[in-house]
Amino acid sequence: MSDKAPALPRVTTAAKARAERLYRALEQAYPDAHCELEYSLPHELLVATILSAQTTDVAVNKVTPALFRRFPTPRDYAIASPEEIEPFIRTIGLFRNKAKAVHQAMRTIVEDFGGQVPGSMDALLTLRGVARKTANVVLGNVFGVNEGVVVDTHVERLSKRLGLAPQDATVALVERHLMALFPRESWCQLSHLLIFHGRRACSARLAACCDHPICREFGRRCELPRE
Ligand code: SF4
Repeated sequence: MSDKAPALPRVTTAAKARAERLYRALEQAYPDAHCELEYSLPHELLVATILSAQTTDVAVNKVTPALFRRFPTPRDYAIASPEEIEPFIRTIGLFRNKAKAVHQAMRTIVEDFGGQVPGSMDALLTLRGVARKTANVVLGNVFGVNEGVVVDTHVERLSKRLGLAPQDATVALVERHLMALFPRESWCQLSHLLIFHGRRACSARLAACCDHPICREFGRRCELPRE
């Protein structure tokens, strides 16, 4: 079952206009923003996203070429044991749990979905290791479906720094604020843009607002939490 999200927060017209200006500034700064996980096939993005929890896309991209060669289809993961997957992802944090999750998710895809990655939130959430964030990554990038916004650590931090969500908002509430502020068709690209800005300009270690041109352009300094 998908988590039935509560109603979206109310946002003002001014807040939406500000969000739109920010979106345009981000688009100008990062015209090539895209998913930085490397994949060719839908199930490869799903595997890469499961592996990316609490680790960097760079680390995931280092291990996936050999992994994808050894296990070219969901069935190859399904008929292997988690222990056979482990050596390929050993350099990634939590690799034992992730090997189990990948194995079980691919088994469900083979047994319940005819070997094809399903294209709905409800179906994706039945897969082990897949929560709303991973489902949003797959839906947005593989199926072009904007069911929600991917809120990873960068998107959460930037949303708060840029005044798009309350400082004390949970990840789920950050997502709902972004869904209320930005048009549905932009949700997938919005997360790419925020992640690009987060990786290239606005690091988690910044202790003070850096007065980045993007933030000046839309007329407001960011709202850093007082640390
Ligand atoms: S002004 Fe600097 S710290 Fe604030 S959101 Fe922009 S890049 Fe991040």
